[in-house]
Amino acid sequence: MKLQERYNQIINYFKENNSDAETELNFSSVFQLLVAVVLSAQCTDKRVNMVTPALFAAYPTPKDMANANEADIYEYIKSVSYPNAKAKHLVGLSQMLVEKFNNEVPNDMDSLTSLPGVGRKTANVIMAVAFSKSAMPVDTHVYRVSHRLGLVSLKHNTPLKVERELTKHIPEEIMGLAHHWLLLHGRYICKSLKPQCDKCPFDSFCPKKLEGSKL
Ligand code: SF4
Repeated sequence: MKLQERYNQIINYFKENNSDAETELNFSSVFQLLVAVVLSAQCTDKRVNMVTPALFAAYPTPKDMANANEADIYEYIKSVSYPNAKAKHLVGLSQMLVEKFNNEVPNDMDSLTSLPGVGRKTANVIMAVAFSKSAMPVDTHVYRVSHRLGLVSLKHNTPLKVERELTKHIPEEIMGLAHHWLLLHGRYICKSLKPQCDKCPFDSFCPKKLEGSKL
């Protein structure tokens, strides 16, 4: 199967079966999305969604969070991973939003990654989800699924290389959607330790599945 044919087959399946895929993080503003995505690093969306309602109620805007103490934020987020570092990042990024970005979350890669705690993946999520831009955030699920399905070769061994390969082959207008497709497929079907190939719609042509015992 040619590479683009592989992409097309997978894209067509998801278009037919999950055309309204979206993030599983709860939020009601771009700022809240940014906070939730920062909190979700090395943590589950489910866990993040458990702590954000109280956090957002106490600190609904960048200005509110910019004036908070890290210790106060910590109390709200202590059940997520790396709460000390994340509390520091949330206060720091909120202060920068107030001081440099007029209380608004910016929508470009350079500005977003200038914020404390915001790397390329987080910036891509904000651009794709909040601003409907053509962006492909590569997290651990997208990285793994892209390799297993043969969408990228093994030599593309960093998130940035995988992002560049995926964006070459996926149409711009569905890039953000494709991110959710690959992520959710990794989260629920093509799991890291025990991929559920018997439930997978791509098992007939998945290179990893066809390797058999090496899953
Ligand atoms: Fe993952 Fe198995 Fe599906 Fe391949 S067939 S994408 S390894 S779940």
